[in-house]
Amino acid sequence: MSRLVIVSNRVADPRKAASGGLAVAVGQALEASGGLWFGWSGKVVENGTPGEGDLHLHNAGNVQLATVDLSREDHDSYYLGYSNGVLWPVFHYRLDLADFDAGYIGGYRRVNQMMAHKLAGLLRPDDIIWVHDYHLIPLAAELRAMGCQQRMGFFLHVPLPPPLILAAVPEHDWLMRSLFAYDLVGFQSDSDVAHFSRYVGTETGADILGEHEFRAFGKTLQVQAFPIGIDVDEFTELGQAREAQDMYTQIRDEYSRRRLLLGVERMDYSKGLPQRLKAFRQLLQAYPENLGSATLIQIAAPSRESVDAYASLRQELESLCGAINGNFGELDWMPVRYIHRNVARKRLPGLYRAASVALVTPLRDGMNLVAKEFVAAQDPDDPGVLVLSRFAGAVEQMHDALLVNPYDTTRTAETIQRALQMPLEERQRRHQTLLAGIREQDVHWWRQRFLDALAAVPAP
Ligand code: UDP
Repeated sequence: MSRLVIVSNRVADPRKAASGGLAVAVGQALEASGGLWFGWSGKVVENGTPGEGDLHLHNAGNVQLATVDLSREDHDSYYLGYSNGVLWPVFHYRLDLADFDAGYIGGYRRVNQMMAHKLAGLLRPDDIIWVHDYHLIPLAAELRAMGCQQRMGFFLHVPLPPPLILAAVPEHDWLMRSLFAYDLVGFQSDSDVAHFSRYVGTETGADILGEHEFRAFGKTLQVQAFPIGIDVDEFTELGQAREAQDMYTQIRDEYSRRRLLLGVERMDYSKGLPQRLKAFRQLLQAYPENLGSATLIQIAAPSRESVDAYASLRQELESLCGAINGNFGELDWMPVRYIHRNVARKRLPGLYRAASVALVTPLRDGMNLVAKEFVAAQDPDDPGVLVLSRFAGAVEQMHDALLVNPYDTTRTAETIQRALQMPLEERQRRHQTLLAGIREQDVHWWRQRFLDALAAVPAP
């Protein structure tokens, strides 16, 4: 059996449950093959030399964890700059927020080269290499340039935008050409695959050999959608533990006479938070029976605070929440509880279960795992309702949620009202279908499908 090598921006110890479903799933695959997980250590060396970083090796069971430090300059240009200040906004359709002029590309290339260099020294000839996400698009091309011939797959966790949006990135040719150094590229949804196919058809003149097969730059590439799932069993277990149970009883008791709506995300402009608050305000205005009752708990966990766009989003949210509470609140009821802090993963199932409605309304999202976690955490006899944006990747699998266009405030408010009033039988039916879907297509299914497809790529 070949050894599996996972490469991602951050590395998690697969034995720690706090790392989340992806770490657990990937960790299981690594343990089965005695694998290697490689990435950035999370450490920034203030006066470090760009393009250099110490390599650290640890063993976690039979999995080897290999991490590299980044100099301050590399961190700021590769991670904050190009990955999160250019690729993240563009891939989420926000050209207006992308900082193309700052010259971050040099750092992005340099760190990918450095990572490739460090990784190459650890590789064995028959390793299977699986690279994750937008931080590391050119990694395979760098490895190939050093003569590495192993099988390599890439999975993009974020959306791929339509060709004309992608073409705004000055380096789009180079980025997309880099993808052809892999043997298999996976996307979250069919719409991402369609964007890829249109891009390579129009911009690179690739030959489309089949639904999933493209040829360009003298290389054949397999491309397919592999929607990521959650570890339903792991999440259910988390829900039975004390922290989640305590959270559930506390919130349920506090809201026994009220209706609880819940939003949980990192504070990010892709998540549609201002639009959601406006829809909630519209709900209170248009359906006054909710006054004194409907309460939105909005968790917006701090994220990438040193990127400018995030600071202005925070101000906008604080002002909207303040205005809603000021205009509608009573001495004994505040409509919005806005929490700008991370909530520990082990407490989340309790919060999800106590909510009548989850609002998962991103403007664009690769998948959205919160939607799936909410479904997994419900009481099947009395489940809450999922209101889901049509612009989340999850929508391709979760037709039984109530779907909304988050830009349409009036209709979103109408849909939230419908969710609040949904009869028990309809809630149960929708929940049952959604739960069966996330069980069938869970994170293990995702991982196995990707690895099977990578193993099946014909040898060059
Ligand atoms: N999450 C968390 N605490 C928080 C907010 C989010 O543990 O306060 C977790 C959440 O349970 C989910 C993940 O962070 O597993 C968010 O994943 P998602 O795909 O929804 O969005 P992303 O942050 O990756 O864009």
